[in-house]
Amino acid sequence: MPSPTPTLEMLSTELAVLRPRMDAVSLAIHARPELKFAEFHAQQVLTRWLGESGFTVTAGAGGLDTAFVAVHPGTVPGPCAAVLAEYDALPGVGHGCGHNLIAAGAAAAAIAVVRALPAHPGTVMVIGTPGEEMGGAGKARLAEAGVFDGVDAALMFHPGDRWLTGRPGLAAAHLRVAFTGVGAHASVSPWQGRSALAAAQLFLNALDSMRQFVPPTARLHGIVSDGGQAPNVVPARAAVDLYVRDRTAGSALALVDRVRAAAEGVALATGTRAEIHETGPMYAERRNNTVLAERFGDAVRALGADIGPYDPDGPAGSSDIGNLSQLMPVIHPYVQIADPGTPAHSDAMREAAATPFAHDRTQVAAAGLAEVVAALLTEPEVLAAARAEFAAGAGVPV
Ligand SMILES: [Zn+2]
Ligand SMILES: [Zn+2]
Repeated sequence: MPSPTPTLEMLSTELAVLRPRMDAVSLAIHARPELKFAEFHAQQVLTRWLGESGFTVTAGAGGLDTAFVAVHPGTVPGPCAAVLAEYDALPGVGHGCGHNLIAAGAAAAAIAVVRALPAHPGTVMVIGTPGEEMGGAGKARLAEAGVFDGVDAALMFHPGDRWLTGRPGLAAAHLRVAFTGVGAHASVSPWQGRSALAAAQLFLNALDSMRQFVPPTARLHGIVSDGGQAPNVVPARAAVDLYVRDRTAGSALALVDRVRAAAEGVALATGTRAEIHETGPMYAERRNNTVLAERFGDAVRALGADIGPYDPDGPAGSSDIGNLSQLMPVIHPYVQIADPGTPAHSDAMREAAATPFAHDRTQVAAAGLAEVVAALLTEPEVLAAARAEFAAGAGVPV
């Protein structure tokens, strides 16, 4: 007989007990923002908490030094539910994506489940997935290395400016277009040079010229990551880092072909050479498991959250959760921690991610995740329905 599912009230009570530590862990991560694959401090504060809470912790996993796996085995075999912790920050804006809340909320959710249900069946895991930002593709790399083998469902939430059970995530290719020209004195004999920076400028203009003629769901955006060394030297090298995104990997790859052709045309026009390479694995489009997302929605709604349904037309970014969502049922709901309209990746979102209000909301989100974990372990029909939806290719969107 499966163990009874703990009530949402039991899970919330455990989370309230965990609240001081949850806040401390979150604020410690927030105060020390670490970029992709350098998140050693975040890894340490999370694994210490999980280790003290009875989880068996392995720091470093799947070839990524800042990943971790924390396992709480049950008393009898059963499903394996993984809660995902992201904890990387952004250059310039620190925790402007609020991953400190994802991390602390994930650990709190898993600890709450094992406290409410010490003799649970199956396995509760927390997987620390570094390098989500900047094309790091931590989850894709961990999956490739087998870290998710045996995991039945992967669950996380993301902070934002509204509550949603889910929204699309675009497929994204991460590219560097490097131009090589010929250096020369910029005044004495510029005609001896061929400017790689001029190529980079023309390339960005070419992207702008394409913009009207790509699908409305596509996004082409980049930065000049190398613009030369000195004003008095014709730049022999320049580079543009850009992302090419659209609703599906197929559509994004078709756009990559057009971007490649534009780079080659620019090279011809400027007498330079263009080389294009991927700076990281492609992010796949996201599939949201509606069975599990609705269970999360029901739980947080019962705790007072005014959560909206899956929004197919909402603004979309990209995440390596998309890659995982092609392998197993996943959820990635959004939790309102800031005023509506607060942009992600902004100073305002960073400030919001450290407020007591954000931590109140993270408690609710953690209760929602804990509810889904408990349901997966103790209600066989929930995992069966999630699997059936996944196998049927249902869920949104593909
Ligand atoms: Zn982000
Ligand atoms: Zn994020």
